[in-house]
Amino acid sequence: MEVIKSIDALRAIINSYKLEGKKVGFVPTMGALHNGHLSLIKSAKQENEIVVCSIFVNPTQFNDSEDLDKYPRTLEADCQLLENNGCNIVFAPSVEMIYPGKVFTSFQFSHLDSILEGEYRDGHFSGVALVVSKLFNIVKPHRAYFGEKDLQQLTIIKQLVKDLYFDIEIIGCPIIREKDGLALSSRNQRLSEEERKKAITIYKSLQIAKKVYGTHHDLKKAKQKAVELIREKNDFVIDYFEFVNRETFEIVNDSSTNKEFPLSICVAAYLGEVRLIDNMSI
Ligand code: AMP
Repeated sequence: MEVIKSIDALRAIINSYKLEGKKVGFVPTMGALHNGHLSLIKSAKQENEIVVCSIFVNPTQFNDSEDLDKYPRTLEADCQLLENNGCNIVFAPSVEMIYPGKVFTSFQFSHLDSILEGEYRDGHFSGVALVVSKLFNIVKPHRAYFGEKDLQQLTIIKQLVKDLYFDIEIIGCPIIREKDGLALSSRNQRLSEEERKKAITIYKSLQIAKKVYGTHHDLKKAKQKAVELIREKNDFVIDYFEFVNRETFEIVNDSSTNKEFPLSICVAAYLGEVRLIDNMSI
């Protein structure tokens, strides 16, 4: 496995693989890798001869400088994990390499980035779209792999690729969870032992909403039960708990309209200083 920091060196090696007719699969990450990331690497490995993983903590997608500062950075351990899992190339550029000067470009995605994560993290998806566009133009992969853990991000990236004619197939991969149901996340490292035990409530809230909805077909009731469960312990501050139409990514409040399209339940909440997000499809 090669660890590459420069754009030119990365382009040269990827071009040489492409000239040999090899397919390139790409997994963009911010590092602090866990089994969720590794599941994307495994999917990429199954479908491509060459797997490229980028590790870059992207400053433009953070709207909270403390969150950016505290984001775990574990490059050495990450490279070891990637090597063990058959990754061929790690691209780990500096901030200066990706952002050599003032940034002029921004993105808007209509309702897709004004609700849920977009509402609570101003400019987040513009930063995501900017770095993903840069990385797509640098790596030029055949396929790119993203987790359904960040369902809104996946939806926006599919739209970005469609709108800008990126010649890249976007593949969504299922959420990987701990045994107790907590969705794996790099931010989980920042939970105290006590908080880690409580964090599972987020998963349970999704389960209860799904169950109540399955029994009563009543979105309001399902949401109410789930929010009650999260609020019970008084430890969480909820940003949102919403049902969305998975096809259009619009919030759904009316139980009578939701027979014709697939639904997902999306939640984000703070537990102490750590913001947890999760979702579940119905
Ligand atoms: P991040 O490093 O948090 O930017 O995540 C990099 C990629 O890994 C994104 O496409 C995420 O959606 C994906 N990912 C993160 N956590 C999980 C998980 N628990 N299961 C599946 N994919 C995940």
